[in-house]
Amino acid sequence: MDEATIYAKEIFAEAGIQRDACVLVTGDCFTGVVPYREAKSRGARIQESGAARIVPGLFDSHIHGSVGCDTMDATPEALDAIGRHLVRVGTTSWMPTTVTDDMEKIKAALRNVGAYTPADDAARVQGAFVEGPYLTEEHRGAHPTAFLRELSEGELDRLLAAGPMRALAVAPEKAGALSFIRHAIERGVHISLGHSSATYEEARAAVDAGADAAVHTFCGMSPMHHRSPMLLGEAMTDDRLYAELIADGIHVSLPAMDILRRAKPKTRLILISDALSAAGLADGDYTLGVEHVTVKGGIARTDRGNLAGSTTNVLAEVRRFIEELGEEPLAAVHMGSLNPARRFHLDGEIGSIRPGKLADFVALDKDYQVLATWKGGKEIYRA
Ligand SMILES: [Zn+2]
Repeated sequence: MDEATIYAKEIFAEAGIQRDACVLVTGDCFTGVVPYREAKSRGARIQESGAARIVPGLFDSHIHGSVGCDTMDATPEALDAIGRHLVRVGTTSWMPTTVTDDMEKIKAALRNVGAYTPADDAARVQGAFVEGPYLTEEHRGAHPTAFLRELSEGELDRLLAAGPMRALAVAPEKAGALSFIRHAIERGVHISLGHSSATYEEARAAVDAGADAAVHTFCGMSPMHHRSPMLLGEAMTDDRLYAELIADGIHVSLPAMDILRRAKPKTRLILISDALSAAGLADGDYTLGVEHVTVKGGIARTDRGNLAGSTTNVLAEVRRFIEELGEEPLAAVHMGSLNPARRFHLDGEIGSIRPGKLADFVALDKDYQVLATWKGGKEIYRA
């Protein structure tokens, strides 16, 4: 089996950051992290990555598209194009995320994810996140009103039959939400609460029924009033819930991000890009599902002026957490890798640098720019 010993000034191992160390890879898995001197004395052939740090490959669990492609294109070529772009920005796993559209189009996107095997140089796919159509019009964001729907367990079963839906967004104030949520969870689907006007009590009941995340916390939900804390108040105070956050510096202000960071345990925040097809491209006109979107200065808006997904990536968000919020670096990286892996019970395979896990990792320079990306122990991208 192939063995590799790769040096960096800092290795972000799950147990802690190790300085002047080497990450050891055998076949497609990590086998250890050892001090440089120990690797040298063993006579290992050490690869100088030139990196300031090696971090685990990031996992973006909410992303619609990149580089002109959208998961709703429902083609393997689109998923490969997005997955190749993602490895360039340090993301080695992702969940193709659908938007509200005609049900047949959502099913086609799910079938495409089910039939898809990523190219060797594209990020892994970890099932799909179905973001619509069970959302509330008041907080629909870029999800078109005409296709929003009421909850139906039969319809959910038909979606599940179409493809690997790992997570589904639900506005929990909808009629029948609690039995719908239980029905979904019994079938292995994680429920994310969002695009919703739910009260604190409605949201809490949904969490009691098993919902385990808030969709892009602060965005697409009612603001918190001190006598009426709403879904946002539940998302900030109930540690059973993971809180997704778009930390692009546009969707949520820095002080609001800081409030969330202080409210949640570090292991319960999940950085997501919510990126759309314009990510990785210049400003211009794009579409998100059926909505027309204009990107100006990297900010995407619908024709009504709503923010419509981002053009960011998880690595840029990790960097913002470290440099602008003063977050502890390993905790910030794990918000973009290990926390989503834990949520979806994938942390035995991915999400951190630990012996036995898949060797998905990224070499970064001192400014958190990607120098190279490895998937399953193979270098698949070099800047
Ligand atoms: Zn989204």
